[in-house]
Amino acid sequence: MTDPDVPAVRAFWQALGLPGLFDAHVHFLPPNIQRAVYAQFDAAGPKIGREWPIRYRQDHAERVEILRAMGVRRFPTLPYAHKPGVAAYLNEWAAGFARDVPESLWSATFYPEESAAAYVKELVRAGVEVFKVHLQVGEFHLDDPLLDGVWGTLEDAGTPVVVHAGSGPVGNDFTGPGSTERLLRRFPRLTLLIAHMGAPECEEFLDLAARHERVHLDTTMVFTDFFPAYPSQLVPRLRDLGHRVLLGSDFPTIPYPYAHQLEGLARLDLGDDWLRRVCWENGAALFGPGPR
Ligand SMILES: [Zn+2]
Repeated sequence: MTDPDVPAVRAFWQALGLPGLFDAHVHFLPPNIQRAVYAQFDAAGPKIGREWPIRYRQDHAERVEILRAMGVRRFPTLPYAHKPGVAAYLNEWAAGFARDVPESLWSATFYPEESAAAYVKELVRAGVEVFKVHLQVGEFHLDDPLLDGVWGTLEDAGTPVVVHAGSGPVGNDFTGPGSTERLLRRFPRLTLLIAHMGAPECEEFLDLAARHERVHLDTTMVFTDFFPAYPSQLVPRLRDLGHRVLLGSDFPTIPYPYAHQLEGLARLDLGDDWLRRVCWENGAALFGPGPR
């Protein structure tokens, strides 16, 4: 069952002298929902916008083994809700996964709904390590009034929130930097991790990160051949923000071998120290280096 992609991934982090990889953007969803996500990508429907042949379609136990074999030592599961009323179910499943897979980050989501403030508070108290929200799929703004009771809790707790706010792959009225900017004006100490570097609004999200010391960026898919090229004039600024850029993959929903995105980071030519920060040290600093 050894995945053919394993050796190239291990060679990458071993050459850097790292203990493995810290991947800040991995998804594990309940099997019925995971199947629905795969079907969306297979159909290359209007929210996907292009052919997207998913490479990793094993059941979740096998996918955990692939990550372990590749040396991905820490990763979240990042559930996200597409409508009201499902976050609680996703969160319950994710809590079980976190108990079963000790190196995973206990992940949860929330949605603009009356109950959000209460369940987020309870999850934070219980020790959830990361939240995920997806503005394109969920079709809401970060500053939706139904989330007003959530952000103060998260700002005080410092719990990182992975936000898919950029308009890739297909934008809608809810994507783009607008609601993130408005939210950070009210809650400037929030710990956010902007998925996909905010692509395609890369510059706007880089500006937000430069202005807010707890705003981070994840590299998910951005530097691969599958994504439009990252604006080359922004690359030197990634060096300055190197302590707040984190490796992300989007495993399993990716159309290329896991190692390809690592090549994409290496060819930015920002040096081995930068790669060590991005691929391990920054994740370990933000979430902690070891299993709970
Ligand atoms: Zn994702």
